[in-house]
Amino acid sequence: MEDAHRLLDNVKIGLKQELPDAQYKTLENISDIYEVVDGKIYLIVPNSLEKFRIQKFYLEKMNEFLHKLTSENWQFILLTTEEIDNIKKNRAAFSYNDINYDEIAINVRSLRPEYTFENYVVGINNRQAYLFAVQTANESVVFNPLYIFGEVGLGKTHLMMAIGNSLITNNTNIKLVYTTAQQFVEDYFKSKNKNQKSTSVSEFFDNYYRNADVLMVDDIQYLADRQGSQDEFFKIFEYYYEKKKQIVITSDRPANKLNIMDRLKSRFSWGLQVDIGRPDYETRVRILKQKLTFMIENVNQVNDDVLEYIAEVFDQNVRELEGALRRFVSYCVSFNLPFTLENAKISLQAIISSDKVQENVAAGIADNVQNIVSSYFNIPLKEFTGPSRKQEIVYARNIAIYLLRVKYDIALKKIGDFFGNRDHATVAHAIDKIETELKSNPLVKQDVDNIIKKLDK
Ligand code: ADP
Ligand code: MG
Repeated sequence: MEDAHRLLDNVKIGLKQELPDAQYKTLENISDIYEVVDGKIYLIVPNSLEKFRIQKFYLEKMNEFLHKLTSENWQFILLTTEEIDNIKKNRAAFSYNDINYDEIAINVRSLRPEYTFENYVVGINNRQAYLFAVQTANESVVFNPLYIFGEVGLGKTHLMMAIGNSLITNNTNIKLVYTTAQQFVEDYFKSKNKNQKSTSVSEFFDNYYRNADVLMVDDIQYLADRQGSQDEFFKIFEYYYEKKKQIVITSDRPANKLNIMDRLKSRFSWGLQVDIGRPDYETRVRILKQKLTFMIENVNQVNDDVLEYIAEVFDQNVRELEGALRRFVSYCVSFNLPFTLENAKISLQAIISSDKVQENVAAGIADNVQNIVSSYFNIPLKEFTGPSRKQEIVYARNIAIYLLRVKYDIALKKIGDFFGNRDHATVAHAIDKIETELKSNPLVKQDVDNIIKKLDK
């Protein structure tokens, strides 16, 4: 420990020479060393924003210095005070006082304290899942297992951990095992290796997995094609089920689509399956507002137009949505810039256009749609990107925009680029307009149908 303190001091001295004062100040937020295990020096930082900043901008450099100073492979790892509280809580819950980091990878095992129900934004995409999760946390074993599924980055882990956090808060004595299916498989193999002569898994494994009141397994799809782990998991599942202890599972697909043994699949459908979909625009804006409270103190510094812009552009995945916001905030913070729409566009440009291949595909589709719409209405191609407000031109333009969005699912921002860099609000407006007209005017519907027929030829 003393060595670690000396190393940290030396690394700080090294960095002080390299960094401007203002940046070096960030490192002063590292308050102390929590512990040192196996060459990993766990540093304490006050909150997740500091952690994020240090991790993003300085950690790599710090570790480089560290490697220069030691011959062994030492490494700094950042923990927030909340994470440390959580580790302590989990240790108490498992009664593993002298926890072995080899066996318990803290990052994977512990519930993230910020993944609570309070921090979960509810929209039509996840309302049902949310309500069943709250019920699971508040009442004793109603659905067993509770099986939550949905695409990546839509809040499954968050919701599962919210159940766990709520259970722990309401009953500090409760014992809870949270694991990912990958970790489960790894544990299983480790425990087999230790017991090569015996066919059973190690005592540690059994103690760990059978000694809890609640079992949570994240991303169960990773059990696919792992017969041994599935067998073992089946036994553990039966054990919890028979004792009427709660099991919560998440997955990227419904149980009947999993590539695992039938008896597990059928067990999973004994309880309740509920899915989480993609959040709509309005929910995405609310998520951004909520995430912002973790990133900056005064959220009023960021205008709604910035959040609306980010919500328009990142419409597939909440993790990416949040990542975009974080990127924007850290860009403005580290260069000391105001949180404007302009800076949002600059800071996010790289990730918006990172997917070049997809971009080319979208450009090809846009060309095709513009060509067909232009010949259908007999309007010059250049009018799509031009400024004309003539009624028939606006109409053709709006229809082309509408089709790119609705038929081809191209992002508003990209569509705008294909129409003379019109902004996302204009594009959204064009789509709304056609949508309204479609409901009331059969001629519009006829035009749209005819064009779709040409596009599909
Ligand atoms: P999954 O497990 O489905 O891949 P996660 O639970 O890891 O997704 O969610 C990805 C990120 O998005 C997390 O940071 C999570 O907090 C956030 N997130 C997802 N849905 C919501 C929501 N409804 N409200 C607030 N944050 C959310
Ligand atoms: Mg997850």
